[in-house]
Amino acid sequence: MAEPRPEQRYDPHEIEPRWQAVWANERTWEVANEGATLEGSYVLEMLPYPSGEPHIGHLKVYSVGDAIAHYHRRLGRRVLHPMGYDSFGLPAENHAIKTGVHPRASTDASIASFQKQFREWGISIDWSRELATHEPSYYRWTQWIFLQLFEAGLAYRKEAAVKWCPHDQTVLANEQVDADGHCERCGATVEVRQLEQWFLRITDYAERLLGDLDGIDWPEHVKTMQRNWIGRSEGAEVTFRCEELGIDYPVFTTRPDTLFGATFFVMAPEHPDVLRLVGGTEREQQVREYVSHAITESGEERGNAEKPKTGVPLGRTVTNPVNGEQIPMYVADYVLMEYGTGAIMAVPGHDERDYAFARAFGLPIRRVIEGPPTPPQEGGDEQGLPYTGDGPLVSSNPQFDGMHNRQALAAIVAWLDGEGKGHASVNYRLRDWLISRQRYWGAPIPIVYCERCGAVAVPEAELPVQLPEIEDYAPQGRSPLAAAEDWVRTGCPECGDPARRETDTMDTFVDSSWYFLRYCDASNERAAWDPAVLREWMPVDQYIGGVEHAILHLMYARFVTKALADLGHLDVQEPFRALFTQGMITKDGAKMSKSRGNVVSPASIVERYGADTARCYILFIGPPDQDADWSDEGMEGVHRFLSRLCRLAAETAERAGSEDRGPMPSDRAQGDDLALLRKTHWAIEKVSGDLRRFAFNTAIAAVMELLNDCSRLRDSVELETLRFALVSAASLLFPFAPHVCADIYDRLTGERVWEQPWPQADPALLEREVYELVCQVNGKLRDRVQAPSDASPDELKELCRAAPNVRAHVDGKEIVKEIVVPGKLVNLVVR
Ligand SMILES: [Zn+2]
Ligand SMILES: [Zn+2]
Repeated sequence: MAEPRPEQRYDPHEIEPRWQAVWANERTWEVANEGATLEGSYVLEMLPYPSGEPHIGHLKVYSVGDAIAHYHRRLGRRVLHPMGYDSFGLPAENHAIKTGVHPRASTDASIASFQKQFREWGISIDWSRELATHEPSYYRWTQWIFLQLFEAGLAYRKEAAVKWCPHDQTVLANEQVDADGHCERCGATVEVRQLEQWFLRITDYAERLLGDLDGIDWPEHVKTMQRNWIGRSEGAEVTFRCEELGIDYPVFTTRPDTLFGATFFVMAPEHPDVLRLVGGTEREQQVREYVSHAITESGEERGNAEKPKTGVPLGRTVTNPVNGEQIPMYVADYVLMEYGTGAIMAVPGHDERDYAFARAFGLPIRRVIEGPPTPPQEGGDEQGLPYTGDGPLVSSNPQFDGMHNRQALAAIVAWLDGEGKGHASVNYRLRDWLISRQRYWGAPIPIVYCERCGAVAVPEAELPVQLPEIEDYAPQGRSPLAAAEDWVRTGCPECGDPARRETDTMDTFVDSSWYFLRYCDASNERAAWDPAVLREWMPVDQYIGGVEHAILHLMYARFVTKALADLGHLDVQEPFRALFTQGMITKDGAKMSKSRGNVVSPASIVERYGADTARCYILFIGPPDQDADWSDEGMEGVHRFLSRLCRLAAETAERAGSEDRGPMPSDRAQGDDLALLRKTHWAIEKVSGDLRRFAFNTAIAAVMELLNDCSRLRDSVELETLRFALVSAASLLFPFAPHVCADIYDRLTGERVWEQPWPQADPALLEREVYELVCQVNGKLRDRVQAPSDASPDELKELCRAAPNVRAHVDGKEIVKEIVVPGKLVNLVVR
């Protein structure tokens, strides 16, 4: 083959800036809020945290989101696809401590680098709605939202045992402590402190956060993570009393049927009363040492049933409310503060961990539910292992003895309730959201403390409470803001007396819990948003981001949305209708990291191959929801594919010249023309279906297949057939490689691909082999339908359910099971 002439060579560095300039100058991706006639679609990737430069994970998530945005536009929707920056937070502040550079300077520099690269990648962003959470024009409304919650009683202050990072000198949310009890940010071992903190009452929403998961289109594993995090369990709250000190200790238990078997009482090391109970006693020193060691261990480690049990007696007793027995109190690390009230009644006869503890400490083990006889244990323990099954109650109160324990659950709770010693209760693992941070680089909490009036909201007209300029960011165990004396001193908004500002800043997860609302009405200076505008865009139709946000950001955003909806500020209960979580890009099987030296920077690959190759490759590498391993050869392969497509299109455009471009005479096509035409329609059908299910890798592979046929048949088909195939290839590949495809489309048609509707496959030309699918209901033949030989099990089920005689037999019944034998039959089991 002859050398391609210069105008036919694929030169991304000429093509890409040229199209980027068109999009920028014409503001192609901007959408207005008013005057819309088309259906709207809100496509959103999680906003980046601007630190340094974008990494390969950013390239992946925005390539995924952009493909969806383009696809939705070409389906005829008006697409909102904005961008912003989650720009408050610790890394910029830590950088400032190290270098003296103001966090604003390093953050702005990083944002500039992100902006530049997003433009170089050709991501179709509506830049008119750009925001950064550290801008006063944004955090003014973060503060406004805090005040809405404060006035509704959903933001409150209380003293609490908090996880404290001694290195970062700040409080951490439970979620920011890793499984080994280390700070997620710096790796330091986390300690516990008692401090006055601000909380958001997310626990009020536990039930709705749980129930509403059923109505959203999210990956099942993310829903499961949220369900587990919320951790709902039913049981009873029972009060144990320490008579000596006159203190009641409520305990949550899912097993009130075993109350008569409680032989000791255990408190979590973080329980605020542990040190009080031993204060001034001979046990104090030992307990103190135990507590400070225990809190450094992870919850997972502590909860591990296999772990040898440790603990210290507190030298006190509580009364078991069902039988009046005095049972000894212990502190032990296998009890977690996060669970229930941070104290448990221990029933060694029926619980594995209590049993292990009782054995280790020589405590009585009593069975109150009769089980099958167990073989005697080594060491002559006649009780045998703890019995965790069901059976009749024994050695309990005569009124319950003999009753099956499942029935006894309710009977005992009712009896306790009557005696005023307990009541039925639902427990959640979810805790209120601690949002106070003793750090500089965050949104100030808009509260003023007055001796006379207490905690007073800063009036709305005075927002934002601006972050003051300070010299010293170094943490000193209090917020760096406390050092800005002139800023701290203020007047009470209510009585005018001298007062002091709150010096804590908000957790940055507050900033990101509502940014998707602000995008809808980003330039509104009078309000956080206009509810009418929100009605047009919310909820987000497709949200895209990492699964690492499954329980943090994704839970907080749902909570804030619900709370604001309850307060009348918006109409939706769920912020994200559908969620897609992308997998990670690894190198040589390992996570990319500077320390491993295996980092592939997007800037360097875009510089070498162009953005289209980079974007296309990152989506071609594998199913985008899975992790995938980077390969330089794979990258080269995709680059060659785009080069071939570009060259063949350029040659074809030249051959076609300016001659009249009539519609393709498909009904007369024969031989190779018909074959290529069919291949083209096959690719249209395939890519459309793949796009709907995020199978971008197979979509790109289908265009590659089409190009192979174009190359093979180029000399044996009519020019119009070849042109149609190449135009379609460019049209289908545009969501993944927008610059080169816009260029090819323009050369071959003189038109703009992004203004064209998504191509439709002609069913008459879809060459799908079919077979006769047998449709059964409860094993009986009810219908036969034509099924494509490459249909997926889901498609087959759908075909079967739609068959007329199947419908007649299923109508009004519930389908409990669908059995698919591909190539043969589908059997619906109904009842
Ligand atoms: Zn830390
Ligand atoms: Zn006052």
